[in-house]
Amino acid sequence: MTGPETLALHGGRPVRERMLPYGRHEVDEADIQAVVEVLRGDWLTNGPTVRRFEEAFAERVGAGFAVALSSGTAALHAAVHVAGIQPGDEVITSPLTFLASANCILYCGGTPIFADVDPETLNLDPAATEAALTARTRVILPIHFAGLPCAMDRIHAVARSRNLTVIEDAAHALGAAIGGRPVGGLSEFTTFSFHPVKHITTGEGGMVTTNDADLAERLRRFRNHGIEREVRQRQATWRQDMVTFGANYRLTDLQSALGLSQLRRLDASLKRREEIAARYHAAFAAMPEVMLAPTQPGNRHAWHIYPLRLDRDRLREDRETIFQALRAENIGVMVHYLPVHLHPYYQERFGTRRGMCPAAEAAAAQLLTLPLFPRMTDGDAADVIAAVGKVIQWARR
Ligand SMILES: *Cc1c(COP(=O)(O)O)cnc(C)c1O
Repeated sequence: MTGPETLALHGGRPVRERMLPYGRHEVDEADIQAVVEVLRGDWLTNGPTVRRFEEAFAERVGAGFAVALSSGTAALHAAVHVAGIQPGDEVITSPLTFLASANCILYCGGTPIFADVDPETLNLDPAATEAALTARTRVILPIHFAGLPCAMDRIHAVARSRNLTVIEDAAHALGAAIGGRPVGGLSEFTTFSFHPVKHITTGEGGMVTTNDADLAERLRRFRNHGIEREVRQRQATWRQDMVTFGANYRLTDLQSALGLSQLRRLDASLKRREEIAARYHAAFAAMPEVMLAPTQPGNRHAWHIYPLRLDRDRLREDRETIFQALRAENIGVMVHYLPVHLHPYYQERFGTRRGMCPAAEAAAAQLLTLPLFPRMTDGDAADVIAAVGKVIQWARR
């Protein structure tokens, strides 16, 4: 006999029959119709829907300009390129992020410098950022981990003291706000991703927002082979003059139609993410073996993910075992992230080592991302809560 309290890992009945993923896109009939309409039209790429998506997006995040790109990674590359990063330049970023936040620096020949995170918020620590400054620092590239806004006022103060550019990686933070000011219009550049696990999707896609018309124009040029558009616009000519370095990082009209349609649901989808996070908070507040995802009064959390932290002092089992136990219960937990400076490539190329960012490393060993996406039902959330309860009860000291 195996009762419901026997872990699925040990042959018991799992909390759910089917795996609940940690994130999932949402595509509705209006989205499909919007894409079909573009398919029947004249422009599959380089057309008017891209512009409409950019304008709606810029307005939504309170930025002057938005430039659509083929991925969030392309958006980061464009921002780092237009910020002028060259070989020898240093860019300070967070180790607790997806690889793309640091890889974009390498594309331009720059050197990533990993400053530690704040142990509570898990966002780039302004004091550690200041301590990492050198004569070669050019850019600070914070990421809003999980969707919780970074201490941008303090990061901007550090940047101003040295005339540095700030690029926010807001791949987790579409809809986040600092004291009512949306993330997207606060720095020289802010980048977003439209990968299917993110707040809105275009399949693959990304955006850079800026308040500077000249920077927006340079981003557009970089996206399109470095071609100067004005020559073509001024004279009816066949000429497409390449005036600067560039690539093909364009987003298509098909994708833009999907993005534009998804953007209309953003508020509803953020609200649902908040509701699920609130359920997790209520359930786990009474569980001393876990630490809740941090929040900040006055700042809007975008809840891209719900990172739960395990208190190893109160648990017999390590994170790996608890991860496996939850997967066996059909809860699709994840880990965000293995710190970037501990990836083999970074260790070999830059000599980064364990011990360089102790707060990020300690947190990374405790983190477990719980499922969180708008289409999750209350029943799905209850399954997550039940499974975490079941596994923690078994694993507690
Ligand atoms: C998703 C993500 C990216 C990259 O986005 P893609 O659209 O997948 O290229 C960059 N940074 C962070 C923090 C992300 O989560």
